[in-house]
Amino acid sequence: MSEIRYPFLSLKAVNEPYESELVAAAERVIRSGRYIGGEECRALENALGARTDGSIAVGVSNGLDALRLIFRAFIELGELAPGDEVLVPGDTFIASLLAVSDCGLVPVPVDCSPLTLNMDTSLLETAVTPRTRAILTVHLYGRICYDDELRRCATRHSLKIVEDCAQAFGARTPDGRAAGALGHAAALSFYPTKNLGALGDAGAVLTTDQRLARTVRALANYGSDTQYHNIYRGLNCRLDPIQAAMLAVKLPYLDSENRRRRHLADIYDSAIDNPSVAKPLNLGGDDMIWHQYVVLADDRARLADFLADRGVETAVHYPTPPHLQPCYADLAHGPLPMAEYIDAHCLSLPIGAGTSDDDARDIAAIINQYPGA
Ligand SMILES: *Cc1c(COP(=O)(O)O)cnc(C)c1O
Repeated sequence: MSEIRYPFLSLKAVNEPYESELVAAAERVIRSGRYIGGEECRALENALGARTDGSIAVGVSNGLDALRLIFRAFIELGELAPGDEVLVPGDTFIASLLAVSDCGLVPVPVDCSPLTLNMDTSLLETAVTPRTRAILTVHLYGRICYDDELRRCATRHSLKIVEDCAQAFGARTPDGRAAGALGHAAALSFYPTKNLGALGDAGAVLTTDQRLARTVRALANYGSDTQYHNIYRGLNCRLDPIQAAMLAVKLPYLDSENRRRRHLADIYDSAIDNPSVAKPLNLGGDDMIWHQYVVLADDRARLADFLADRGVETAVHYPTPPHLQPCYADLAHGPLPMAEYIDAHCLSLPIGAGTSDDDARDIAAIINQYPGA
């Protein structure tokens, strides 16, 4: 590897523009004397809900906990039961499945589309069994996975729709609905690399169901509805007010950050022209906010080496689908050829805050020199 001229992602570059505001917000929390819950958390929750079509937001510790709390709350409310099956995409970050199995539910992977890299919704209907009770739709790489086929399948079989919105906060469907407000509940992650990233771990649950929101809030706070009164065997999954304050600084800039990502994706899309490198579908809509720009290469390792030799740092999201991970060796599943194909060929190009328009043009030009396998 030669010197890195085009880093994949610099978190320092992500937060540099906001530094003085972030420092002021951190000082405000330090001087408030309130270090658990309180006004910082409420203010962020209100802002998150307001920009998600009026959903209720409950701030929590991270994205995985947000998902776990949603499933746990459905179980406490008697709407799901351990052993129920949840349809999940065959390819996703493993946390999507971990949340399902941690609650005693059974993840059932559905294969993906090589076009969208999301769950192939035309395969949902055949994956439904008498035990299926929910669909966990993951908006992977920032692309919303929610269409008539998914909605009809959920309606026909009375399935809960849970959105894993960790990579797609700020995306909207073609008819203007916010990702995070499409199903019964949604999980957000503010892991530092996400489009809206905290300076540590943080997450949120979104829902319009007041009972579910109340249950999630109680479960995240030792299972108590009022202090020292425990209605559930709960957890401690609260949002940290310092992170809430950091996120409140960055939230107003999310849409412009997402527009900048779109602009870089458009540059890649028009400039990359190499038959050995398949570009991601770019329809130009707000239903894709380009959390990652993922190409499929005939020989991924060779392309990654070629780019590294020319100073371009890349990443692989993800090298192994969940059903091939050791922890899911006993997971029952049908054939998942596309999930396996995608993970064997995907390569993520730089699209973060440290990538300029000129960088994207340079990277595209370098890719165009790649001779193929
Ligand atoms: C990041 C991520 C999560 C987990 O979020 P954490 O905040 O890291 O716990 C879950 N699902 C997807 C798709 C993610 O990208």
